[in-house]
Amino acid sequence: MAANEQSSIDQLALDEFGSTLRGELVRPGDDSYDERRRVWNASIDRYPALIARCAGVADVIEAVRFARTHQLLVAVRGGGHSYPGYGVCDDGMVIDLSLMRGIRVDPEARTVRAQAGVLLGELDRETQAFGCAVPAGFISHTGMAGLTLGGGIGFTMRKLGLTIDNLLSVDLITAEGEFVKASAQENADLFWGLRGGGGNFGIATEFEFRLNPLGPVIYAGPIFWPLDEAPRVLRFYRDWIADCPDELTTLVTERRAPATLAGLPPDLVGQHVIAITSIYAGSIDEGEKVVRPLKGFDSPALDRCAPMPYLTLQQLFNASFPPGWWYYFRSCDVAELNDDIIDVMVQYGEQIESPITALGVWQGGGAVSRVGEGETAFNGRSAGHTFNIGGNTTSVEGFEEERAWVHRFWTALQPYHTSVYVNFLMDEGHERIQQAYGTEKYQRLRALKQKYDPSNFFRRNQNILPA
Ligand SMILES: Cc1cc2nc3c(=O)[nH]c(=O)nc-3n(C[C@H](O)[C@H](O)[C@H](O)COP(=O)(O)OP(=O)(O)OC[C@H]3O[C@@H](n4cnc5c(N)ncnc54)[C@H](O)[C@@H]3O)c2cc1C
Repeated sequence: MAANEQSSIDQLALDEFGSTLRGELVRPGDDSYDERRRVWNASIDRYPALIARCAGVADVIEAVRFARTHQLLVAVRGGGHSYPGYGVCDDGMVIDLSLMRGIRVDPEARTVRAQAGVLLGELDRETQAFGCAVPAGFISHTGMAGLTLGGGIGFTMRKLGLTIDNLLSVDLITAEGEFVKASAQENADLFWGLRGGGGNFGIATEFEFRLNPLGPVIYAGPIFWPLDEAPRVLRFYRDWIADCPDELTTLVTERRAPATLAGLPPDLVGQHVIAITSIYAGSIDEGEKVVRPLKGFDSPALDRCAPMPYLTLQQLFNASFPPGWWYYFRSCDVAELNDDIIDVMVQYGEQIESPITALGVWQGGGAVSRVGEGETAFNGRSAGHTFNIGGNTTSVEGFEEERAWVHRFWTALQPYHTSVYVNFLMDEGHERIQQAYGTEKYQRLRALKQKYDPSNFFRRNQNILPA
């Protein structure tokens, strides 16, 4: 159904649906329509026919049943941060969970329950009030739901595991509009699939996580060098992390240094830089000791690695990824940073044009790699490093050039690709989705999809085809 064909759904039925919702039904022409259809990535511009802003489980059930009855394509929106913009569709219905923001910490049980519209920064804030954290992503306005269902990598993963490794249960509405619970004890097959299988099996309405003591202050932050020094810095880095403790997780970035970076020598503003961000999920003293060799390597241009509140760390990179810019990504995992890969990083780092384009390379291993590959649908636990190559602009101007650079960079790494993280995929086709899961896991996921969503009702996602 096209946005201008709403009349093909009985007006009475639409009005009745709208009045049943405890939340809100937004349609083309409504004042808030443009705001509500927009997602984080401004290169995505889609026009849904209906946006059902659900206030609770009853609204989600109603929305699923309405969409089914009227055969509407459904897009599910948590935080709206999907790179390819799967949280919105042309025509059809967006089931928008952003009103569902409840969080409840149980300090005795050391668990937290969070509804599907919660953003990472909100989860951090509530859990830090109890001196705890759930490991998740590094930008605090990312949606918890989409991130968790794909796996969830982040700053403390080598110590605390992926977000899904801390997941205890999920409440879910199926394609039939039925409520089910998934945990190790109930619907264990579904619980396996939800830990990495994305939004393929239903709409998650609430998540329960185990809490980990962390903070309020941890030893963390980036250290910068001019990109000219990257060949030496990266070789040093490779040796330094070779036998580092699980408490340490690192992220390598390359970009042009922004003028807003406090303390940066003036001659480096706008110049290509390499940064290594270290996060030590342990004592401050130990963290200082572990990071000391890196701090001493080759007189860094700027060292901002120091004790800092965990909440500050979790928002440190927000300014580099605001909603409303144009973003394009390609990702791959590699086993190790060999000399060839270092050469590629240096070569393409030097070619960065846009002042907001950025490469991120996550260090893997640690607790992530100690969960069995078969235990969850997430694939790639043995990845050494995860590349996320982002070509970004503030508007359409220059976007094509950034996309082309991303492709060249990613292609140069192709001989070394191992797996790819499903939450870092763009709209890249079924073959890439199969690659992301590997043949065996993909077949198991297809069987699960056949069981829980045989008609592929939930298909605006990294779609797993029913068996
Ligand atoms: C700035 C930025 C930083 C990021 N950093 C990280 C990071 O550090 N670590 C990491 O692992 N990932 C990271 N990501 C990737 C992120 O995990 C995915 O983009 C994820 O899909 C975002 O979830 P969302 O709820 O915000 O997205 P949305 O666009 O709302 O949803 C994306 C898809 O997830 C599914 N989905 C969302 N909510 C539900 C639900 N309640 N039930 C069923 N399906 C649902 C749907 O298929 C939907 O299309 C980042 C992304 C961005 C844009």
